[in-house]
Amino acid sequence: MSTLADNLSAISARIASAAQAAGREPTSVQLLAVSKTKPASAIREVHAAGVRDFGENYLQEALTKQQELRDLPLIWHFIGPIQSNKTKAIAEHFDWVHSVDRLKIAQRLSEQRPAGLAPLNICLQVNVSGEDSKSGCAPADLPALAKAVAALPNLHLRGLMAIPEPTDERAAQERAFASLRQLQEELGLGLDTLSMGMSHDLEAAIAQGATWVRIGTALFGARDYSNHA
Ligand SMILES: *Cc1c(COP(=O)(O)O)cnc(C)c1O
Repeated sequence: MSTLADNLSAISARIASAAQAAGREPTSVQLLAVSKTKPASAIREVHAAGVRDFGENYLQEALTKQQELRDLPLIWHFIGPIQSNKTKAIAEHFDWVHSVDRLKIAQRLSEQRPAGLAPLNICLQVNVSGEDSKSGCAPADLPALAKAVAALPNLHLRGLMAIPEPTDERAAQERAFASLRQLQEELGLGLDTLSMGMSHDLEAAIAQGATWVRIGTALFGARDYSNHA
């Protein structure tokens, strides 16, 4: 068995046991393989082991790999910060966007989504830790943003996403994820998606209702950012 397939088995086991501990069906938690900085060959290998959904943060890198992998039926998720000049390509080349945090970006994605493609699945990124450095809309601004995005014609608002401040303390991890879940419940829009949990905190996220866990390092190994300066 290759390392990637071994890593995938280990993650699947972590997801299943976290779901079981939370009294949830393991199939209610989906794996998003975060492949940023990793080569197309690694994506191909992970797809062969049974993964369909891949998350990318850097547009140009993602487009290059999509081209190399166009023979595979992959589902592509954009999960990085979005500048206005990137929305057209994102609207054309992705199935999901997890990192929408302002209306202007959502409006552009809706306008630029090609006719003939299904509505673009959207998660609103919320800043649940209150750190200045993090992207994400402020919780207080979320209700108005969600309402406006839900009304855009070529988008399908699915839920919320967060990247809480990293901590090893399980209780603190759960508090952050619980706050995202609570914000979603308070919206009352019937949203079905909570994109939360990464390599180090997926158990806490699943305990608090994650439906997508976004896993990079634990699957593909440590990242080398030297090409992304
Ligand atoms: C890189 C990244 C991940 C994956 O993080 P790991 O800790 O490597 O699992 C998940 N979500 C987002 C938004 C990311 O940018």
